Amino acid sequence: MAATATTTPTIVVHGGAWSIPDDIAEASQAGVKTAAEAGYKVLTTSGGSALDAVETAVRILEDDVVFDAGTGSVLNSAGDVEMDAIIMDGRSLRAGSVACVQNIAHPISLARQVMEKTDHTMIAGVGANLFSKELGIPQVPTDQLVTDDARKQWEEYHKYKRAVNELFDSQLGHDTVGAVAVDSEGNVACATSTGGITAKRVGRVGDSPVIGCGAYADNDSGAVSCTGHGEAIMSVTLARTVTFNMEQGASAQAAADKSIAYMKQRVDGTGGVIVVSREGQTGVSFNTRRMPWAVVRDGTIRFGMNPGENFQNEFTNSS
Ligand code: ASP
Repeated sequence: MAATATTTPTIVVHGGAWSIPDDIAEASQAGVKTAAEAGYKVLTTSGGSALDAVETAVRILEDDVVFDAGTGSVLNSAGDVEMDAIIMDGRSLRAGSVACVQNIAHPISLARQVMEKTDHTMIAGVGANLFSKELGIPQVPTDQLVTDDARKQWEEYHKYKRAVNELFDSQLGHDTVGAVAVDSEGNVACATSTGGITAKRVGRVGDSPVIGCGAYADNDSGAVSCTGHGEAIMSVTLARTVTFNMEQGASAQAAADKSIAYMKQRVDGTGGVIVVSREGQTGVSFNTRRMPWAVVRDGTIRFGMNPGENFQNEFTNSS
């Protein structure tokens, strides 16, 4: 749908829903704030679109080692990094995604190239890597993407052999990242990027790169990025459920809460969502112990990580 009204540019960012341990809590909160501010600057000072803003924010989170995306990704059962990412444009409903891609620093930008330079929506595995080489994207050795923490978590997982769905209540990392934005023209976009979950099977694809599951954006309603137990998120097509609830008249916050409650009730799923409506209303909801998030709008940054938190600071484009 073509956007009409002038909307207040707004961006929301998350850094993964799970039991974030205290020793990385502060860095996780700081990371989402930095990314949200950078995305907001794209929206307000360089005339960038919602799509540019979410890509910028997610690239910053992919570079931040505290998050499970790009550098800092968790390891699969074979001790390798396989990353998933999606970006979606609410104007056209076009999405681009990559699954199980290896050895690149910014899966989100490769996903955007899938959307803009191919006739496809998702490219997986070897094909995604081939495409990145065709585009001349620098290849990064696996070791450069892996942090000591990711390796430790992998070893701990193998020691205790936890069930995958227990990971979301444990302190083993899977801080998927995401961003949603609306620009002054009322166009919405979303982006989600992840290394997945520790010790996932080789070739396992979670919700994150799947349209309507890990993310969805539609100018008729709004944009959503999800995090949490990928298999549960896919069962309820969480992102599309949120926009569906908005289409039925729910506010961004009510749609987020309702969809998270539905996932819990229907498949006992844990996770979180961030939402922006086409009018610039925002929503943040999670049923894990923590989820770092930040919203920038109208010269103000709001943020939190623990249930019920909603801190607020002034934000200037020069800050
Ligand atoms: N949803 C991601 C996955 O299952 C993990 C996460 O959000 O932390 O791959």
